[in-house]
Amino acid sequence: MELACLDLEGVLIPEIWISFAEKTGIDELKATTRDIPDYDVLMKQRLAILKQHKLGLNEIQEVIATLSPIPGAIEFVDWLRERFQLVILSDTFYEFAAPLMKQLGYPTLLCHKLEVAEDGSITDYVLRQKDPKRQSVIAFHGLNYRVIAAGDSYNDTTMLSEAEAGILFKAPANVIEEFPQFPAVHEYHELKEEFLKASNRTLSL
Ligand SMILES: [Mg+2]
Repeated sequence: MELACLDLEGVLIPEIWISFAEKTGIDELKATTRDIPDYDVLMKQRLAILKQHKLGLNEIQEVIATLSPIPGAIEFVDWLRERFQLVILSDTFYEFAAPLMKQLGYPTLLCHKLEVAEDGSITDYVLRQKDPKRQSVIAFHGLNYRVIAAGDSYNDTTMLSEAEAGILFKAPANVIEEFPQFPAVHEYHELKEEFLKASNRTLSL
């Protein structure tokens, strides 16, 4: 039995924080796990900047509602779901992802959640667990699934290592250089081919 695990931001949808930073003009919010690999350090910095600018969940959701999946992503998800059971493993938050998950047809999403005060300010965040993407792959192995995973950044690399096959998709040059053990592709048609190659079944495009 095979399971496909996909990262969300940078793979199927744009980076939510970068889009929000562009809309609001707050450049410091453009940092992602590509720049700061320690996710806790990154999130504490983001929440402090939001507080400083008095921005809450409503303002962020207004921006997210205007975003679309990466061109080709919806078709790719449909293609993948015909051939694999699909689980999205993300370091985003349910509150942020909801409008975009609707556009992707609500595939299964395992991610984190926010704590939001009555006035809409984000007071904290709750990580589901430590090293969640890797732990998810370990759990799927416990359920006797063979896992093929794809992601674009540092926070995906433990998931890619734990999986039977890991693929870098739309990864920046520094990640590709640091993790040469994973095939690296940039277009959905190439990603489809990597999934077919990694599968232990005979599948076709
Ligand atoms: Mg990503």
